[in-house]
Amino acid sequence: MQENVLKRRVAVVAVGGNSLITDARHQTVPDQIRAARKTCVHIATMIERGWDVVVTHGNGPQVGFILRRSELSRHELHDVPLDSCGADTQGAIGYDIQQSLYNEFRLRGIAKQAVTVVTQVLVDRNDPSFKNPSKPIGGFMDEQTAADRRKSANWDVVEDAGRGWRRVVASPLPKEIIERDAIRTLVDQGFTVIAVGGGGIPVVENDQHELVGVAAVIDKDHASALLATTIDADLFVISTAVEKVALNYNTPDQQWLDHLTLEQARRYMAEGHFAKGSMGPKIEAVIRYLEHGGRQALITNPENVEKALEGTTGTRITRD
Ligand code: ADP
Ligand code: MG
Repeated sequence: MQENVLKRRVAVVAVGGNSLITDARHQTVPDQIRAARKTCVHIATMIERGWDVVVTHGNGPQVGFILRRSELSRHELHDVPLDSCGADTQGAIGYDIQQSLYNEFRLRGIAKQAVTVVTQVLVDRNDPSFKNPSKPIGGFMDEQTAADRRKSANWDVVEDAGRGWRRVVASPLPKEIIERDAIRTLVDQGFTVIAVGGGGIPVVENDQHELVGVAAVIDKDHASALLATTIDADLFVISTAVEKVALNYNTPDQQWLDHLTLEQARRYMAEGHFAKGSMGPKIEAVIRYLEHGGRQALITNPENVEKALEGTTGTRITRD
């Protein structure tokens, strides 16, 4: 550990939904722990090779499960506010990753500890997305329930393509990571940190300059990019369900990409190659990271992280 103190190489690794839930038949908590362990094998290898890693992760399905439990037990128990769902899932998923890394470190004789930071992320209370909430969360409802919830709980609800009604919330841009100094200090001290889970718990500053949680969802790729910029990470890795990024994805003209410059990323983004809500936010996040001084980003799947670091697969995105 000693020789790394002088020249730390810090990577933010954003793990996608597939690192916890591989498919709909494997989504229990023990299933999620098993899936986390698989991804942590690759993270531990990165650490063994000298990287200091900050792990970030999504929480969409897990928040969905909590909301569903609330729904089913409404006759007896209180609702869990969305910011609190964020905190609950950061803790639970953080635990899965902490334990997986503990066990992996022990097997390899790595003298390190992983620790989760429950992370608040400041958003602008005037973010335009609050005027136009569009991120669906939770299950479907009938029209009457939707109308009731709108009245009693002030929910925004929309009709979703003929499938029923759903609650929608704002998806504001992350402005500032509240616990950034704690995260930075832990990384500097050699801890493997798990942070900004689910994009962070969205908070706004009220008129008294106090933080208060809001019912919103921050995109995890955007929050991870902000974290990478904030702690001046040398590398931003997005681990998802595809080995590489493609042009004309899922069409006969599909073309896998080994390397992209910032300029090309912007152009292909504008040309609509990266789907909204999946690859789109990842490329946007990478663009932001590179524009704010980031050096390089990699997009690949968990099992190819090591090879991508060696340059033999994955999509590498650099400033030029
Ligand atoms: P995560 O949970 O990791 O955020 P997402 O499902 O949100 O995963 O985004 C990754 C998915 O984006 C891939 O599994 C793939 O299906 C999809 N995708 C959309 N456009 C592209 C593209 N141009 N190249 C590669 N994958 C793409
Ligand atoms: Mg996603």
